[in-house]
Amino acid sequence: MSINYSSKINKIRTFALSLIFIGFGLMYVGIMVKTTEWLMVIFFILGLLSIVFSTVVYFWIGMLSTRAVQIVCPSCHQPTKMLGRVDACMHCKQPLTMDKNLEGKEFDEKYNSKEFRNETKHKS
Ligand SMILES: [Zn+2]
Repeated sequence: MSINYSSKINKIRTFALSLIFIGFGLMYVGIMVKTTEWLMVIFFILGLLSIVFSTVVYFWIGMLSTRAVQIVCPSCHQPTKMLGRVDACMHCKQPLTMDKNLEGKEFDEKYNSKEFRNETKHKS
């Protein structure tokens, strides 16, 4: 089983970009069905909504980026941003961790969850 893990910020960015394409796609469908007025209106509203939503997501990325920790990737020596306890390098997808206890362990998204954080707190 291979995990294709990519940086969280990159993931959200891809999501926001695809929302824009979906939005334009929906509007395009709206133009194609313009003979049915109510259907065209629905497609246009849906298209507008997804474009508006993607700008919200872009804004959210901006907020996240300010909270992200900037580090230099040990693997490709390029500056990258980290979110949470574990994240992947933006350039080479090298898994990174902020927690010394997790170093060398198998990469797992669950290290970012609240339950895991509490679990380690109780142990130590
Ligand atoms: Zn890297």
